[in-house]
Amino acid sequence: MNIGRIQIEPIIDGSILSTLPATKPFPDLDSPQWQDQHGMFRADGRIESALGAFVVRTGDRVVVVDAGAGQRFTNGYTPPSIDIDDPTDPLAAAYRSRGLSDEDLRRVAGNLASTHIEQGELPRSLDAVGVRPDEVTDLVFTHLHFDHIGWASANGVPFFPNATIWCASADLEHFLAGPDEERFVTFVYHALTAAQRLAPVLDRIETWEADRSLMPGIDVRLAPGHTPGSSVVVISDGSAKAMLLGDIIHCPLELMDDDFNLLVDHDQALANRVREAYARELEGTDVVAAAAHFPGLEFGRLLPSNGTRRWSFSAP
Ligand SMILES: [Zn+2]
Repeated sequence: MNIGRIQIEPIIDGSILSTLPATKPFPDLDSPQWQDQHGMFRADGRIESALGAFVVRTGDRVVVVDAGAGQRFTNGYTPPSIDIDDPTDPLAAAYRSRGLSDEDLRRVAGNLASTHIEQGELPRSLDAVGVRPDEVTDLVFTHLHFDHIGWASANGVPFFPNATIWCASADLEHFLAGPDEERFVTFVYHALTAAQRLAPVLDRIETWEADRSLMPGIDVRLAPGHTPGSSVVVISDGSAKAMLLGDIIHCPLELMDDDFNLLVDHDQALANRVREAYARELEGTDVVAAAAHFPGLEFGRLLPSNGTRRWSFSAP
């Protein structure tokens, strides 16, 4: 897709079929809200999310925004088990601390065994759009969750050997301190912690502490809540503008319905306020947006519709 003279291309690393709990049940299969999700929701109430990144070519810079989940598992992925009747079960405790009711927890536990991750396609996807890792000048992270920093390093060395790496200072501080939530992702997703993944590239990380322009055509805006330094990447040329929303939402429904959100945020109340603010900003404008887990990493627009909102995946 082009934003003025800037080119944006999605780069798929894989997909994740998960049991993310939500504040409200998913809409029924006949509803327009269901149709607007473009196959992300499944009838069993689970979400199939893309894992990936975006390549942005602006001027002489080749920028990659987010970096998928990383190298393929050598022996495939094995889903974790959960015993919700055991008060010491770490996964049950983590879900309860996010406000999940016992009934919802039972449903999540029932689906957990079929959680599935495919990853490791990013190098091939990059090659398919004609980008070599050593050509990438900048790697920009919307936040430092494992599924966004996966290709920061591979086999203990930087995957993008010449790239400057950018992230919010609030996230770098938070994740390098080894927060509790990292135990959850290593347990469920068998991922390296952010500290482990970023160790080979720490000397080339530059941070932002406030909203700023990183380079011509690319600005970052702090949008905390999902993580302490969660940020939105704004790409613009003249009056054309696109937003890469990172994980401030995971599915379009979170912009369409203020009461619907997935219980995956570090600070739920703050994340909800940020989501609502972006919904108001995007609604009815020409600004196209994509989040890091939308199907196919497709762009779309938020449209007003009879006092509510619709998501349209048809980018201009
Ligand atoms: Zn994510």
